Amino acid sequence: MYKEMTISSSTPSFQAGKMSVLQRTLNKPISCIGMGVHSGERVQLRLLPALPNTGIIFKRVDLDISIPGLWAGVISTQLCTTLGHASGAKIATIEHLMAALNALGVDNLIVEVGGAEIPVMDGSSEVFVDLIDQAGLQEQNAPRRAIIVKRSLRVGSADRWVSLEPSVDRSFAFSCIFDRPIPFPDQHFTFILTPESFREDISKARTFGFMEDLALLKAKGLAQGASLSNAVGLSASGVLNPEGLRYKDECVRHKILDAVGDLALAGLPILGAFTGYRSGHELNYQLVKTLMEDVSAYEIASIDSISPIHLPFGSAH
Ligand SMILES: [Zn+2]
Repeated sequence: MYKEMTISSSTPSFQAGKMSVLQRTLNKPISCIGMGVHSGERVQLRLLPALPNTGIIFKRVDLDISIPGLWAGVISTQLCTTLGHASGAKIATIEHLMAALNALGVDNLIVEVGGAEIPVMDGSSEVFVDLIDQAGLQEQNAPRRAIIVKRSLRVGSADRWVSLEPSVDRSFAFSCIFDRPIPFPDQHFTFILTPESFREDISKARTFGFMEDLALLKAKGLAQGASLSNAVGLSASGVLNPEGLRYKDECVRHKILDAVGDLALAGLPILGAFTGYRSGHELNYQLVKTLMEDVSAYEIASIDSISPIHLPFGSAH
């Protein structure tokens, strides 16, 4: 169903980089325990190596069901991204783990979880990055493929939207506009996704929320586990966390983290430029769905056949 990219040999000067041309999985299983932000319940998370071409598979060990980490399985984007199974079972809050897997180039993995939510940990991707680093990565004997965006797509409305455009890099730009008074300005951040840039600039950015919203959510039985230990709390007077912010523009960086995670639901790395304006999980999901349902909007190619000028950081030749 897809057309291979033309192999280019006309760019001899690219740097030896880190984008693997082979699929990768973890070297060994690794686990952690944390709390579900919505249920408030403690749950174990285990990351297990998987065979080539498995992709990311979420598994609820308490129910013995599996759900692929793909856009077609998304059943809700309210507050977080949630996958659903025909049995009615769900796995929520997958996006911060998916962001770490996407950014660090983990293609195949079994994600076992003992309940309906991936633990929120500190509200960022930092713990998941640490777990992947501790386990280490191994290359597998199967070519790695990517989705190359061929034409511009945009979903949303005039006051909130996301877009994907063809790009020679894999840049992410995002604007975060606050719609109520807080003592710092609207934020804008642009970066090119690499394992290094994600670790440095994005992975530690925590989710955030307004305290008055939190009270409403808790009254509805949602966000039972949310606290200043797993989110940045905002109010008209500023940041409520005693430790302050990790980055001065932590909120917009977290919006990018969410987009990196949500775009991973395409099932392969996306080579294209993403821009978001006041968006969230629903628009990110709609963008992936729109892309994947329009075969004229993209091509799939093995990374070793893509001209290095299309790669954000060379190739591993
Ligand atoms: Zn998030």
